[in-house]
Amino acid sequence: MKPKILVTSLTSCNGCLTSIIELDIFPELLESVDFIFPLIEDNDNIDNCDIALIEGSVSQEEQKEELLEIRRKAKKVIALGTCAISGGITSLSDEIDPIPINDIIEIDGFIPGCPVPTDFLGNTLMALLNGERVKLSLKNLCSECELRPDNGFKSKIKVDKLIPEKMPFECFLHENVLCLGPITRAGCKAKCIKANIPCEGCMGPIVPDFMSNIVNFFSSIEVSEDIITSGIYSKFTRPKSFVKRGEQNEKNDNKTINQN
Ligand code: SF4
Ligand code: SF4
Repeated sequence: MKPKILVTSLTSCNGCLTSIIELDIFPELLESVDFIFPLIEDNDNIDNCDIALIEGSVSQEEQKEELLEIRRKAKKVIALGTCAISGGITSLSDEIDPIPINDIIEIDGFIPGCPVPTDFLGNTLMALLNGERVKLSLKNLCSECELRPDNGFKSKIKVDKLIPEKMPFECFLHENVLCLGPITRAGCKAKCIKANIPCEGCMGPIVPDFMSNIVNFFSSIEVSEDIITSGIYSKFTRPKSFVKRGEQNEKNDNKTINQN
């Protein structure tokens, strides 16, 4: 019998579902598993499964019940995308108070991104199904960025812009534009940078202490007051960044993905 991968969506934009739909670039994966989509199949029953991929954050009571049921029925539960991991852009809403799924249930790992990069998702699922241990990168985005300065960063960097004014010929930070590459996990192949968009941190921080990550970065450069008060740097991690230490589920925040 083929392994079953359940895919479900909580409060989200459904963008990470698109990454799953694009998995046709991994035909061997699609042939070797059965995907179950309760949302698309209009089926409220949650079947037993080998892996549950959960997209989105929790913003309604019934979603907590759904999550607990998935936890009971799935051998592995994986948070799919930044909304599920740290609240993501759902936490920008004034109307809901989204909760990352790993604050409600024990998870077995997470696959970051907004949306999750399809090649990264496919390779991770293939590895999981082969029983391999998957480690997320411990390098930052600058390590895979074509704009990384050959001779290192300037010693005095001043940041007062969020949007570049021209095609960058050098690192955004050297153009006075905020780029979260130095504190963001590698793995997306710097697609946004190649499209002239500075990194906003959707792959999440390398260290689990979200707020100290930002504070350490800002203490090493000069950042304008406007940018500090904008809070834009925590766009993808707000519920994790502003929760008091000790209230966080650190055990889950430290999880990488493994099959053991
Ligand atoms: S992580 Fe991004 S792409 Fe995925 S559901 Fe959330 S907002 Fe959409
Ligand atoms: S700060 Fe941004 S633009 Fe500069 S090297 Fe790092 S990721 Fe690239």
